[in-house]
Amino acid sequence: MTETFRALVVSGDKRNQQVDVTDWSPDRLMDGDVTVRVEYSTLNYKDGLALTGKAPIIRSYPLIPGIDFAGTVEASEHGEFKPGDKVVLNGWGVGEKHHGGYAQLARVPGDWLVPLPHSLAPRRAMAIGTAGYTAMLCVLRLEAAGLSPDAGEVVVTGACGGVGGIAIALLVRAGYTVVASTGRMAEEDYLKSLGASRIIDRAELSGEGRPLGKARWAGAVDTVGSRTLANVLSELNYGAAAAACGLAQGMDLPATMAPFILRNVGLLGVDSVMAPKALRMQAWERLARDLDHEKLDAMTTEIALADLPSVAGEILAGHIRGRTVVDVNI
Ligand code: NDP
Repeated sequence: MTETFRALVVSGDKRNQQVDVTDWSPDRLMDGDVTVRVEYSTLNYKDGLALTGKAPIIRSYPLIPGIDFAGTVEASEHGEFKPGDKVVLNGWGVGEKHHGGYAQLARVPGDWLVPLPHSLAPRRAMAIGTAGYTAMLCVLRLEAAGLSPDAGEVVVTGACGGVGGIAIALLVRAGYTVVASTGRMAEEDYLKSLGASRIIDRAELSGEGRPLGKARWAGAVDTVGSRTLANVLSELNYGAAAAACGLAQGMDLPATMAPFILRNVGLLGVDSVMAPKALRMQAWERLARDLDHEKLDAMTTEIALADLPSVAGEILAGHIRGRTVVDVNI
């Protein structure tokens, strides 16, 4: 096994964090029965919060952040995995309280790993990343709640973000008519290239709304929360549902009971971190099968480990478009 490996490490404490790319030794990794040679990780919104210290994501110092990674098993004492297997990991507190993906090596319990579908190389898997896997969970929840392509327009909020972009591509592939809500109207061509049928300015949804608006959405994937989600709920068609996974506008939800008791709408919470393994496998299989690789490539930017500190603030400011893959080996 490698003597030392490169890692991005956050040290200090929650009031005074320091971020460095440094050499680490494998014996500093935490407990786990599988060691993975990481090829790629990504920058998710939560990683931005962890790297900047803007929210208490990191719960023990020093820590290697990175809530997801993909790579090759180097050593395993877990029955399901052997050296050479390609794997992906999302969540489970990795990058929060267990050393994460911003390193050339990771050690984790094998139960946290998902075998990578054969058609997905590690880089593509990380172009999808936790954002794309969460988008897939949203689509699965909406479909389980009865959404079908003939029901009408589905709105995706935070459309230029990672979850938003992949949600659009997945919904369009499944035959839905998708409306993209964005604060970046100049990105209309990009959003249409992902398959959005039309674009709305997020200001239409982000202000103070009415308890019940004009019903116009057959479903919704909301990555923004706060007033935006309240307004989306108030504009859902009778019996429709919104899958809510994010809080880019805010953690609050200033909604009323009106859409629930007068329109029979549903609010479906989506968590990717603790999702059970069977659901993860289902999501990754479907991502491998259904996500258009050309669209994925068009929304992906690649950076190096050392670029992360400067790019972290950009994702929180809403300046990053699509997905950011991190090559941990450069
Ligand atoms: P991104 O930063 O890539 O995308 C967020 C998007 O939200 C931005 O691109 C922007 O889209 C929009 N946005 C940003 N700020 C505001 C604002 N103040 N008001 C309204 N819209 C805003 O993040 P991700 O796509 O990676 O994640 C999206 C959300 O989902 C985050 O809150 C993240 O924490 C959450 N998440 C939750 C998971 C779960 O398990 N539940 C897993 C993964 C992510 P535009 O410019 O188009 O308006």
